[in-house]
Amino acid sequence: MGEESKEGRCYACGGDFPQSVLKRCSRCLLVRYCSRECQKVAWVNGHNKSCKPRAQLTKALGRWMDIWRVVLCHFAGVSLDLSNHPADYNATHMMVIWITKRLDIQNPPSPQMFRVTKGDVWPLILCDAMWPELEFTPAKDMGINFLRLVVVLEDWAGDTLRVRTSSWRTASLPMTRRLDKEDSKYFAENWLQSVQDIIEKGDVSVKAVYDKLHREAAMFSRMLGD
Ligand SMILES: [Zn+2]
Ligand SMILES: [Zn+2]
Repeated sequence: MGEESKEGRCYACGGDFPQSVLKRCSRCLLVRYCSRECQKVAWVNGHNKSCKPRAQLTKALGRWMDIWRVVLCHFAGVSLDLSNHPADYNATHMMVIWITKRLDIQNPPSPQMFRVTKGDVWPLILCDAMWPELEFTPAKDMGINFLRLVVVLEDWAGDTLRVRTSSWRTASLPMTRRLDKEDSKYFAENWLQSVQDIIEKGDVSVKAVYDKLHREAAMFSRMLGD
C-alpha cells in the first residue's frame, strides 16, 4: 500500500479521509480534521477545553512518567520473563508501551492523563532502527541490573507525537531472575493487562506497593551479595 492509500479519521465527523486531506490541530497536535467546518464544530463542542498547547503536552508526559516510574520500572523487568531467557536479555531487549492522551481529562498533571493502548517487548536492534534519534547505547557493560523502556505517545488517529526512553539500575532484577519459570512466564504474559489496570484506575497508592517491593528487593539482593 502506498502512502496515498493510507486513510485517517476526522476527529469531529468520524469519517475516513486520505492523510493529505486531514489537518492536525496545530495547538495540541492530538486531533485531526477533514475541514475547517469540522474543526469549528469540535472546538465549540469541547475541544476548546481539552486542547492545550504542545509544550504542555511534553511537560505532562514527563510528569506522567515520573508519577508511574516505579510501576513502569517494575513491569519493564517482569515483561522480560528473565527466568526463561539468557542472563543478558535485559541488555538486548526492552519493554515498549504505546500511550494516548485522554481528552476527557482536562487538568494536568494527572496520573490518568495518558492511557496505555499497546505494549510489547522489542529487541534493541529493532528499537534502534525504529527510533535512531534515541541513540540507545549498548547495555552490555551496564550490568545485569540495568533496565530500560520506551514510551511512544500517539495521537488520537495513531500517529506518533513523542517518543521517550528511560533507563534504570534496579535492585529488583536479581529477584525477578530467580522467579519460578512458570510464574515468570505467567507474569510476562499478563504484564500489559496489569499495567493498564493500574494506570487506568489512576490509583497512585498502588505505587506504594511497588515502592515497598523494590525496597525489599534491594535488601534481598544485598543479603545475596549481588
Ligand atoms: Zn470531518
Ligand atoms: Zn487541539
